[in-house]
Amino acid sequence: MNIALIAHNDKKDELIEFVRKHQEFFRGQNLLATGTTGRRVTDATGLKVACLASGPLGGDQQIGSKIVNGEVDLVLFFRDPLTAQPHEPDINALIRICDVHTIPVATNIGTAKLALKALEG
Ligand code: PGA
Repeated sequence: MNIALIAHNDKKDELIEFVRKHQEFFRGQNLLATGTTGRRVTDATGLKVACLASGPLGGDQQIGSKIVNGEVDLVLFFRDPLTAQPHEPDINALIRICDVHTIPVATNIGTAKLALKALEG
């Protein structure tokens, strides 16, 4: 599967820990991510991640474009609901394009756990 990873700054540690915990599963997937998230996941786990631009610089839009092209099967997007983001319109656009193309998107660890449980079997 092609899995996109995105985490806002206050959620990066949580996403990294989640990926680390499910490392065997993620090792068998094609991972892509917004810039800082991807680099931090690679540094922490050694997993190969295709890093796009940082979120505020257009990374969310790049992931959205890949969704339109049929190149993303699942999005794990750990959002920070308590901090205003300068790229809020991009975030909304990404969620919208997931809905348009019925791509599953987990916006918090609770949904991500359910998704992984279903996929790990
Ligand atoms: P980043 O982007 O992974 O480059 O930090 C995520 C975001 O903040 O939207």
